[in-house]
Amino acid sequence: MKILIVEDEAKISDYLRQGLSEAGFVVDHARNGLDGYHLAMTEHYDLLILDVMLPDVDGWRILESVREAGKQVPVLFLTARKSVDDRVKGLELGADDYLVKPFAFAELLARVRTLLRRGTSPATETTLAVADLELDLLRRRVTRSGQRIALTAKEFALLELLIRHRDEVLPRSLIASQVWDMNFDSDSNVIDVAIRRLRAKIDDDFEPKLIHTVRGMGYMLDTSGEA
Ligand code: CA
Repeated sequence: MKILIVEDEAKISDYLRQGLSEAGFVVDHARNGLDGYHLAMTEHYDLLILDVMLPDVDGWRILESVREAGKQVPVLFLTARKSVDDRVKGLELGADDYLVKPFAFAELLARVRTLLRRGTSPATETTLAVADLELDLLRRRVTRSGQRIALTAKEFALLELLIRHRDEVLPRSLIASQVWDMNFDSDSNVIDVAIRRLRAKIDDDFEPKLIHTVRGMGYMLDTSGEA
């Protein structure tokens, strides 16, 4: 699941980004309102975390534009302001929740999970399944044939990406940008190593094999059971 953080204070955004990544979410971060606005309007996110006071465009403006565009994505406001008026304004504009700084990360994570579970958008799935493989996106649990499989946060994100794009060849560059949020040198084997580990966990002891290498192109999760 992909979350956008729009926050200009580096200390807070680093803290959030690290914590949410460790919890298994794919995180994008914008340092100012304008970048945040463009990302929120053009990319697909499962949740937006918006600061109110931002350079260029404030958090309220971003929320207003997102709702005017008909996007139902859940929005959590994160702000130092704690007056009742501000809180009411945020909720009237269509924010789903409101957290006042400073906050404990555990509380933020609990609220993020609640918002994702509530899933205001019908497109927000909380479980994904392929063959006998199941991913619970909120509890971050994976089972195959009913057996629980322990994955790291990166392996989970990688598997989620492969399942969402099942039966499509995913180039390494796309995997790098979606799961690691960065571009690797073309000779980097980080992705190959991660795929090998993931395969060992979800494919080695099971049939049919789901993850396939498409030589010279990338990787694919194949659901036909024939490849
Ligand atoms: Ca701010």
